[in-house]
Amino acid sequence: MAAYQLAQEALAGEFAARWAEALAAVEARDIAGSLSELEAEYAAAIRESAAASRALSVAFYRLIRALETGRVIGGPGYRPGASLGSLWADFNRATGKRTGSGPSTPLPVDTRNPFPAAVLEREAERVAEAFRRQVADRVKQHERERAGRGSAVLDDAELIAWEREFLDSLKTGSTGAGGMLVQDGGRDMIHTALQDDPGAIGYYRATDSSPCYFCALMAARGAVYKSKRTAAFGAHPHCHCQAVPIFSRRYQLPSENEKFARMWREFGGGSLADWRAYYRKT
Ligand SMILES: [Zn+2]
Repeated sequence: MAAYQLAQEALAGEFAARWAEALAAVEARDIAGSLSELEAEYAAAIRESAAASRALSVAFYRLIRALETGRVIGGPGYRPGASLGSLWADFNRATGKRTGSGPSTPLPVDTRNPFPAAVLEREAERVAEAFRRQVADRVKQHERERAGRGSAVLDDAELIAWEREFLDSLKTGSTGAGGMLVQDGGRDMIHTALQDDPGAIGYYRATDSSPCYFCALMAARGAVYKSKRTAAFGAHPHCHCQAVPIFSRRYQLPSENEKFARMWREFGGGSLADWRAYYRKT
């Protein structure tokens, strides 16, 4: 479902824009003195976009489930008398786009709530860890390197380029890690709900428009049927892949997944490194 994948990607983009603004407001040489303000901004931006990602994933899950099974599932955002029309309206509101509509006939209900309560503490820990690794530790290291350079003059072009390069790399790393945490809000929600929903049989991976070799391979596998221990989804920084739940064997894979599966067959087997090289040149 492209609308869902794009809307989740847009939430990561929203976070990235907000974080870029916060970083742009600080001079390279002042970063070390602004770490606590930056961390507060980083955490707030991730927290808000991750909450939106979770709400979007619930609306999506409930809609797909109703489309495939003809039944509504309970949990957050459930309203009595829900119909395909109201579920589409919820989904359209969450994506900010009108991608579908349906009749207002109330659907039968499964009152079960398979959605995990938001684990906010765990999320806050992951955010703090990401900030430490991607920002605080790197800034300290950079300060040490700057001190090691001695008393270079400030307008030295080489020094300016060096500061610029550091900031760019800091921004790329912290944006990737933060965007992953934002989308993990929705990804974890769906991945966990599947396990606790007897109506769900598995999921497939919807990739972004230019997935890396690893994600392309995961998408090529098609449906991942759930088992007692469904493997972790395996997202990575700058990855906008999403888990799309499946409720019947009649699901249809997106054309991208079919394309990657075809590539995998044509590749004919080999190591992951071989696949990586093959994927890059095709
Ligand atoms: Zn990916």
